Amino acid sequence: MTYDVACPVCGRINRSLYLEETEGWMECEYCGNSSQDLGFRKKARIPAFGKDRKKRIGMYLAAEV
Ligand SMILES: [Zn+2]
Repeated sequence: MTYDVACPVCGRINRSLYLEETEGWMECEYCGNSSQDLGFRKKARIPAFGKDRKKRIGMYLAAEV
């Protein structure tokens, strides 16, 4: 299964990522920053489509600051 993930740095969508193989890590193809989708392990069965995913990533970022 592949996932579409919004880059937390630049906000652009990286498509068809194999997050299961990288434990949620991805390197943005637009800005080159590496980031980990912290919700990946818990939500492993939910494909990253839609607005909710983007919102969750933003929440995690806020929690880390
Ligand atoms: Zn990016």
